[in-house]
Formats: sequence, structure tokens, C-alpha cells
Amino acid sequence: MWMVNQQAMCRMHLLGEHCECHMFLGSLRKQKSMEGYITNNLFEPKLLKERHDSLAVEMQSRGYKHKTPLDFSSDVFNYLTIEQLNYKVDYQSSFQDLINRCSVCRSNFINRFTKLFNTRSKD
Ligand SMILES: [Zn+2]
Ligand SMILES: [Zn+2]
Repeated sequence: MWMVNQQAMCRMHLLGEHCECHMFLGSLRKQKSMEGYITNNLFEPKLLKERHDSLAVEMQSRGYKHKTPLDFSSDVFNYLTIEQLNYKVDYQSSFQDLINRCSVCRSNFINRFTKLFNTRSKD
């Protein structure tokens, strides 16, 4: 979960993060360990649904198909520790990582640098 402003993400990273949201839910349903994702700043349990839905809205606004609602009850989080459940992605670090990796995202963000984050920019 990059957790950056989805409006500035390139197609590949937008679709990739959307796909990851579904994979995270799959892992949660199987009660797989999420520790590695959290250690690597990739997963914020409490925003999974909200983030998926923001990505889906952006996909649809670009004319990409989205047919995969992410519906689940919060029971899927029951096996996580409190620390895992409350983990928040470090958005600054995630943003740096994304723009270092992807020149398309980087130039998109430079063109819209006034709005890097769509949620909770200070926390
Ligand atoms: Zn979806
Ligand atoms: Zn990109």
C-alpha cells in the first residue's frame, strides 16, 4: 500500500496497489503472517478497505475496469496483534520509495506536488 495520492500514480502502480489490496485480504482470510509486510512499511490494516475503494474510484475515473469490490468484516483482523492492527504506513518514506523507483510516478507527482497525499498528511 503506497498510500500516496492515487490521482498522480501511473497506471502500473495504481493497478498494482489495487491488486495488492485484494492479495492482502486473501492473506488475512488465510490468517497468514502479515509481519513482513508491516516491517517493510507496506500494509496498514485499518485503511485497507478505504484505500482499496479510493484506488477503485480512480481506476474507474480513468476508464479502467473494476469489478472486484473488497467486502469483508473486521473479523479478518482478529488474529493480528494490537501493534500490527494499529500500524500506519510511513507515507513520506513510501512516497520517496515510489518516486525513486518509477519515473512516470515521479513526473506525475512533480506536476502536482502540492497534493502528495490524499489522506492524513500530518499524523
Ligand atoms: Zn478491487
Ligand atoms: Zn509508477
